[in-house]
Amino acid sequence: MSTTATDVNQSADAGGTEWDPIFDEVGLPKDPTNIYTQTVASMLQAAEIINLRHRVRIILAQPKNEIMVHFPVRMDDGHHKLFKGYRVQHNNAVGPYKGGLRFHQDVHLDDVKSLAFLMTMKCALVRVPFGGGKGGVNCNPRELSPGELERVSRRFTAAIANDIGPDYDIPAPDVGTTAEIMAWIADTYGALSGRHGPADPFAVVTGKPIAVGGSLGREKATGQGVVDVLREMLPDLDIPVEDMRVSLLGFGNVGSWAAKILSDLGANVVAVMDHTGAIRNTEGLDVHALADHVAEHGGVAGFEKKTGTGGHARHCGEGCDVISEDDFWTTPVDVFIPAALEGMVNEERAKQLHCRVVAEAANAPTTPEGDAVLASRGIEVIPDMLCNAGGVTVSYFEWVQNRSNVTWDVEQVDRELNRIMCMAARRTIVAKQKYDVSMRLASYIAALEHLGDIYNHRGIWP
Ligand code: NAD
Repeated sequence: MSTTATDVNQSADAGGTEWDPIFDEVGLPKDPTNIYTQTVASMLQAAEIINLRHRVRIILAQPKNEIMVHFPVRMDDGHHKLFKGYRVQHNNAVGPYKGGLRFHQDVHLDDVKSLAFLMTMKCALVRVPFGGGKGGVNCNPRELSPGELERVSRRFTAAIANDIGPDYDIPAPDVGTTAEIMAWIADTYGALSGRHGPADPFAVVTGKPIAVGGSLGREKATGQGVVDVLREMLPDLDIPVEDMRVSLLGFGNVGSWAAKILSDLGANVVAVMDHTGAIRNTEGLDVHALADHVAEHGGVAGFEKKTGTGGHARHCGEGCDVISEDDFWTTPVDVFIPAALEGMVNEERAKQLHCRVVAEAANAPTTPEGDAVLASRGIEVIPDMLCNAGGVTVSYFEWVQNRSNVTWDVEQVDRELNRIMCMAARRTIVAKQKYDVSMRLASYIAALEHLGDIYNHRGIWP
């Protein structure tokens, strides 16, 4: 039977299987509800299956650096407010630390650690030469004026400027951060590094606007990668992408792009929920018009008042209905795509889902309890580490273009992205079949094989 992190956590809870001794050895809490503990438990389970060296297990069980900063920002009304920011650098055995920056009111150290850890695994799985990092600022960007948002971004950059760099740690956008914020970070970093800094200071971040060194295809990259993985995997499950029914939780960068690309391929996006509400049209939503609406109004709420359709989608009915959260979760679809925040597919929601596949576009959207329910119901989960790796892959292309002073056209970006995503999907399927494990565990195994190999060659010095 396939195994997941849940097996470890539940059996430890029940006093069955002991916690891996590495939890005590490296001083990690044995708390099954802790998101970082959950991630490490999955890694250790995969490590055991492939007999990974002990020294690699303990190195990966803790981040290399956990940076926490406090910095004051002048608000529009003249008073100063203190903000808390994080940058966690998990591992750089493969290459510079790489990972997004999140601006959100619920950012905590353990979330950032867990997301940094996932980045190490993700980069190893897709074989791009980066390690894993993640960062964030505890703030609600929707409550900040444009000027305040810019000052928060620049002050945070100043606070971590000595800890990032094009050869050392390269942030990118994530929830609540945009290409514009990346431009402010690059500009601040460049100004602070001065004449003696790196020759290409703007390569310190990816996901920049095209005009300041961004890559064509980066904005849609994560959504495009989700679609590339689905097209590689769904034929094995007898689900034709061209006619499948889809629902999406989250309609920000990742969700909206995945929806638009799927819809252009003929898929039928029937339901969408975000932080402002849930909508449904069983004949299909016009997701292009919905994306325009969200860009203007900040969420899907109010889209039901729009009449007519943009006519972009093959499957596309007139308008939509506002539905309850329960109705959203129980809507029958072939593929459900969580593209919002962590932990939203919990035990209760996993029981409600009416789908054959969960494609994890978000990072860590499924709790261990939710994972167990999905496994018991025979719902296939395409794990986050694989499913949303398109973003970091095109970030790598952006960094390569910046450093070699070349520009790729979007066809080249899409072609290379597709090649890398399909190979990562195949790598995961091979590990799944070889070890008879869940797709999630298989993705950890495929990543750990690469990391183990690197540590075997490099050794540990001094
Ligand atoms: P975003 O800020 O553009 O969108 C987030 C979406 O989540 C919004 O639609 C928001 O309404 C929704 N949301 C937030 N709280 C919600 C709630 N309580 N209920 C329902 N919906 C809610 O962020 P994004 O960049 O699209 O990232 C989404 C996910 O994808 C995150 O987990 C992120 O870490 C992951 N991810 C993003 C990228 C990238 O390139 N942007 C790459 C890899 C992974």
